[in-house]
Amino acid sequence: MEHVRYLVVGAGVSGLAFANFIDRGAGRCLVLERDQQVGGYCKTILQDGFVWDYSGHFFHFRHPDVERYLVERMPADEVVTVEKVSQILYKDRLVDFPFQKNIHQLPQEDFIDCLHELYFRPKLDGPPENFQQMLIARFGQGIADRFLIPYNEKLYACPMDELDAGAMGRFFPDADIEDIIRNFKRPDNNSYNATFTYPRHGAIEYIKALQKDLPEGTVCLGEGLVSVDMERKVAQTSVGRQIAFEYLISSAPFDALLKITGLPHEPLVFTSNKVAVFNLGFDAKGWSDPHWIYFPERKYRFYRVGFYDNIMGTDRMSLYVEIGMKTDETVDVEAELARTMDGLRAAGVVTDQNLVSWHHVVLDPAYVHITGPARQSFERLRQHLQARGIYPVGRYGGWTYCSIEDNILETRALAQMFNALHAPPTSP
Ligand SMILES: Cc1cc2nc3c(=O)[nH]c(=O)nc-3n(C[C@H](O)[C@H](O)[C@H](O)COP(=O)(O)OP(=O)(O)OC[C@H]3O[C@@H](n4cnc5c(N)ncnc54)[C@H](O)[C@@H]3O)c2cc1C
Repeated sequence: MEHVRYLVVGAGVSGLAFANFIDRGAGRCLVLERDQQVGGYCKTILQDGFVWDYSGHFFHFRHPDVERYLVERMPADEVVTVEKVSQILYKDRLVDFPFQKNIHQLPQEDFIDCLHELYFRPKLDGPPENFQQMLIARFGQGIADRFLIPYNEKLYACPMDELDAGAMGRFFPDADIEDIIRNFKRPDNNSYNATFTYPRHGAIEYIKALQKDLPEGTVCLGEGLVSVDMERKVAQTSVGRQIAFEYLISSAPFDALLKITGLPHEPLVFTSNKVAVFNLGFDAKGWSDPHWIYFPERKYRFYRVGFYDNIMGTDRMSLYVEIGMKTDETVDVEAELARTMDGLRAAGVVTDQNLVSWHHVVLDPAYVHITGPARQSFERLRQHLQARGIYPVGRYGGWTYCSIEDNILETRALAQMFNALHAPPTSP
C-alpha cells in the first residue's frame, strides 16, 4: 500500500494552497481531485470569445503578501483593479449599494418609512437571537422588509430567522444610524470590497498560479476519496487505490466528509442552498456602468446579475445571473433560462440584444446555512476528526462563509503548523 504524509482532498484553492505551503522535504503530499480539472469553484469557461467564471468571482485581498504570492506566479498585466459600481434595482430605479446607507435615493414614501422605522427600531433586551432579529434591531423593519430580508431569503433559500445573527460575519455591510444619515449628504458607500481585482482570463488564473510550483504528480485528477478507515488511517479512492496517510486535509464539503468517514452525527444539521448560474453572452452592449446589480424583489427569480463586459471593458454584453435554490429543488435548465431572459427584459437589462452564447452551472453547496446547532456540531465533530489526523478546511470543508483569500490564509497557517512540527532537528 502507498503511504503519504499529507493526503489532500480537492484541488480547489484550499487544497492547492496547502500543497504550495507544505515543506517539500518533510514527507510526500498528494492531492486527490474527483473532477477532471483543477479549480473547484474557481473554474473559468472560455466560450465564443466570452470569459465566464463558475459565478462572478472578484477578489479583494486584505493581505498584500497573499496577493503578491499569486500575482508573482501569473503572466504580467493579467490582473486588473476595478473600482466597484454595485447597485440595487428597487421599484424600477437603481439605488446605490448598500441599501441601508442609500435610503434617500428611494421613492419619497419608502424613504420616509425606512427613516421612521430606523429611528424607532425595536430595542432588544439581549443579543439578537437570529439573523432576522439582528437586521430589524439594527436597521428597522422598513429597511429589513424592502431589501435585507427578501434579498437574503432569495439568496439563501431559507427564512432569515433560521440563520445565526452573525451568519455573514465581516461580509455584512455595517452601518449605524449616523453613517446612514451622513451618507445622505456625503456619500461613502465603501464596504469590504470597495475595489476588486480580476484576472483578464478569469479566476482560473489564480488556480494556475497555485499549480505553478507544484512538483509533477502532486495532483491526481479524476480520483475521488470514497471512504476512510479512521482507525487504520487508510483512504480508499474511486480508482481502487488504497492510500495510508498520516494527515488527511479535506476541502470536500463537511457533510460529504462525514459520510466518507462514517462519523455519526445529528440529522439535518448541515443545510445549505445551491445556486444556479447562467452565463449569458449577447451580440451588443447593454448598460455601461454597473459591475453587478442586486434584485431584492420577488418578481425577479434571480438575486444578482453581474456585467463582465463592464468589468473587462469589452464591447458585447456578458452577464452572470445567480438564482438561489433549495438543495432539493430540481433545475429545469431550459425553463430557467427562458424565465431568466424574461426577467432581464422586464428589468430593462436586455432590450434589443440577441443572446449568442450561454452556459450554466449549479453550485451545490453554495452558501451554507450558519446556525447555532450547525456551529456546535461542526466544532464537536472537527475535534473528533482532528484527533485522528483529519483536518476539514476551506469554505465547504469548514462549513463557513469566506473568500479565496481566507482559504489561502487558513491552509497556509495549517501547512506552517505541520512544517514546524516536522522540521528537521537543528544541530547544536
Ligand atoms: C456564488 C459564489 C460566489 C463567490 N464569489 C466569490 C468572490 O467573488 N470572491 C471570493 O474570494 N470568493 C468567492 N466565492 C467563494 C469561493 O468560491 C470559495 O471560497 C473557494 O472557491 C473555495 O475553495 P475550496 O478549495 O475551499 O473549495 P472548492 O472550490 O469547492 O474545492 C473543493 C474541491 O474538492 C473536490 N472534491 C470534493 N469532494 C471530493 C472527494 N470526495 N474526492 C476528491 N475531491 C473532492 C471538488 O471537486 C473541488 O474541486 C464565491 C462562492 C460562491 C458560491
